[in-house]
Amino acid sequence: MIARLIDGRTVAAALRVEVAARVAAAGFAPGLAVVLVGEDAASNVYVRTKDRAAREAGIETRTIRLPAETGQTELLNSIQQLNDDPTIDGILVQLPLPRGIDPPAVIEAIDPAKDVDGFHPMNVGRLAEGRPNLVPCTPLGVVKLLRAAAVNIAGARAVVLGRSAIVGRPLASMLLAADATVTIAHSRTRDLPAECRRADILIAAVGKPEIVKADWIRPGGTVIDVGINRMPDGRLTGDVAFQACAAVAGAITPVPGGVGPMTVACLLENTLTAALRRRIA
Ligand code: NDP
Repeated sequence: MIARLIDGRTVAAALRVEVAARVAAAGFAPGLAVVLVGEDAASNVYVRTKDRAAREAGIETRTIRLPAETGQTELLNSIQQLNDDPTIDGILVQLPLPRGIDPPAVIEAIDPAKDVDGFHPMNVGRLAEGRPNLVPCTPLGVVKLLRAAAVNIAGARAVVLGRSAIVGRPLASMLLAADATVTIAHSRTRDLPAECRRADILIAAVGKPEIVKADWIRPGGTVIDVGINRMPDGRLTGDVAFQACAAVAGAITPVPGGVGPMTVACLLENTLTAALRRRIA
């Protein structure tokens, strides 16, 4: 391996300490509500992780557990109560939602000022316009990792592999705002390896284990792997063939221990941001 390792655990730990210090200085505990519908095992793990991290940072969390058979109207009523609750600064509805519930309708019901996932169309539009309010946690974590690793974004050629609403698209907007020259590649892109090889910064958010090979990497380039793929043997792997790509890249994130820890840390920061803005609004 010749690439420098970008250690997300260390950067995320520092951000969590910083958020905890800012919460202590604020003199009040921001409130985060997490709404979980049904009994999805993976969602349960995520919710527990978020809950623990929030408490450690001095953020009060409330988990609203609703049965899988909850109807859309009932869920929208719960969200309305949280919108109206002055002790709640951030609302997060854990996805995926059970069948029969329309995710866009649920996300649109969240008060944009409490939308700590940054998925509400008003926040999506603000980001696309270059006037960001609350922005999605995973792409925010990617940009913070690049900055922590002192990677030059301004003027760099960035290729974002994946165009989902939660990672690829918002990340492209954030990199553009940071003055990168941005390409978004996806399943219909012609000659994906050639597009990737142009990248000073390559970000993979595809969900296909080790799709990015060593000969897709520009020598000395920076590679950020957002992918989390559970292999049949239980191992977690990213979208990047780590060992081979690390021999070509200049800097690279591992999986696990790269972007994943940043997502939770950025959720805490977004909750504090929402709390402070609501109090001065
Ligand atoms: P989606 O499935 O919503 O989007 C995947 C994107 O990859 C799509 O734009 C799709 O293209 C593109 N794609 C799929 N197959 C190919 C291919 N063969 N070649 C090129 N592009 C392809 O995934 P998400 O954005 O939600 O997540 C991506 C990965 O990131 C997953 O592994 C997920 O687990 C992980 N993730 C990690 C997080 C973290 O905290 N670290 C948080 C969120 C996600 P098209 O649009 O054309 O279909």
